[in-house]
Amino acid sequence: ILNVRNLEKTFSSGSKKITVLHDISFDIEAGETFSIVGPSGSGKTTLLGLCAGLDQADSGSIDLCGTQLNSLTEDERAILRNKNIGFVFQDFQLLPTLTALENVAVPLELQGAKNASKVGKELLEKVGLGDRFHHYPSQLSGGEQQRVAVARAFSNTPSILFADEPTGNLDAETGEKVIDLLFNLNKESGTTLVIVTHDLELAQRTQRILRLKGGKIIENPIDTL
Ligand code: ATP
Repeated sequence: ILNVRNLEKTFSSGSKKITVLHDISFDIEAGETFSIVGPSGSGKTTLLGLCAGLDQADSGSIDLCGTQLNSLTEDERAILRNKNIGFVFQDFQLLPTLTALENVAVPLELQGAKNASKVGKELLEKVGLGDRFHHYPSQLSGGEQQRVAVARAFSNTPSILFADEPTGNLDAETGEKVIDLLFNLNKESGTTLVIVTHDLELAQRTQRILRLKGGKIIENPIDTL
């Protein structure tokens, strides 16, 4: 579902150029659970953003769901994201002026869904928030907000879900619940899961781990557990 070849990414900072990803190649199969681990600054978030079509590489190729991302315009990448990709971020990124239900349903409405509210309610029930439809993010706990974000991420029935430190802002117990939810949804719907994390225990729950250091894949890069 994701084929990455010889990826390079450089950022400019003033007159300096810093290469943050060097010659990265790997494949992820549909339905897999996969994690990307590595120290702070090793390039994990940058790699996730490139794979999800949020940013463009300087060289190399990414094939996502059968489409070469390099050949797409910004608009075409947005369409691909809406159709095939879900995201969960460390800081939830819910819209503060919308209720839990609206946070899930409004993106669906914008994509033309007629039954957005019904689907939104079903998803919130699935993540255990059937009694929180009309709460605003500020009225929800961190774990509840992340569960709304998970419901939103699954609302377009994505083929692949990218999660960047999904438990980073949660206590261990709440984080575990959110992760259980992601793994259950992977089992039920076959959605491929790609998780960036510092948490090795969490990484070890995924089928494969890619280790990054200084923007490179380190030896024995992909372990089958
Ligand atoms: P963390 O675990 O701390 O989130 P990370 O492994 O996700 O780190 P990235 O966020 O991918 O690391 O950053 C990799 C490197 O690229 C860092 O040195 C960072 O400073 C640099 N970087 C990231 N985004 C930019 C940018 N837009 N402009 C310049 N440098 C950037």
